[in-house]
Amino acid sequence: MSLDLQATEAVRRRMQRTKDNPFERTIRSQLHARGLRYRIHYLIPGMKRTTCDFAFPGLKIAVFLDGCFWHGCGTHPPSVKKNRDFWLSKIERNRARDARATTHLAELGWTALRFWEHESAETIVEKIVSATEVLRDGQSRLRARSST
Ligand SMILES: [Zn+2]
Repeated sequence: MSLDLQATEAVRRRMQRTKDNPFERTIRSQLHARGLRYRIHYLIPGMKRTTCDFAFPGLKIAVFLDGCFWHGCGTHPPSVKKNRDFWLSKIERNRARDARATTHLAELGWTALRFWEHESAETIVEKIVSATEVLRDGQSRLRARSST
């Protein structure tokens, strides 16, 4: 039985997702240049085998950089011809898991930031930077209050 090309392409994309892809690297290196330090492929507390792409554990921020194919972006519907049902149900499961992770993080008092790979890196970086600033401000106010 020969592997069909569609599946091979999808597997390749999945490998990119689980390893490091250029999109993730771009975002991370820009954040690093802005002085932010993060933990990559961080395991979500209380969830087995579910990681975010990177996290700021001290600030309780989890960042997800979602690939359009695997996470079922509405702007870029998956174009699969072979094994269509198989891929669509897989994407559907991913979406359900994404939603569970977001809800779970919110219950823990974490902020989940989700971005699509089609969004501009610049915008994503700005949003992440401002989220860290807001939370850091909140934390320093709390500390100031408790020390007086
Ligand atoms: Zn998209």
